[in-house]
Amino acid sequence: MTDEIDRATERTEELISDALAEQARRAGFAGKTAADSAEYCDDCGDAIPAARRAAVPGCLLCVSCQAAHERTHR
Ligand SMILES: [Zn+2]
Repeated sequence: MTDEIDRATERTEELISDALAEQARRAGFAGKTAADSAEYCDDCGDAIPAARRAAVPGCLLCVSCQAAHERTHR
């Protein structure tokens, strides 16, 4: 009985992590970590804060350049 519950819990956790991975893939962050983020903005060369690099894995632009980029590409 306990085993059954354990298996169900495991399965639920699997589904949740699958869903999170899928979400990350759709957002374009597949396999990216903070280490993939640029230390300096690709555009203006400003240092990108560690918090932003961690929050947006794989980011290449600073906040202001990213905002400008999104404005022009929409
Ligand atoms: Zn910039």
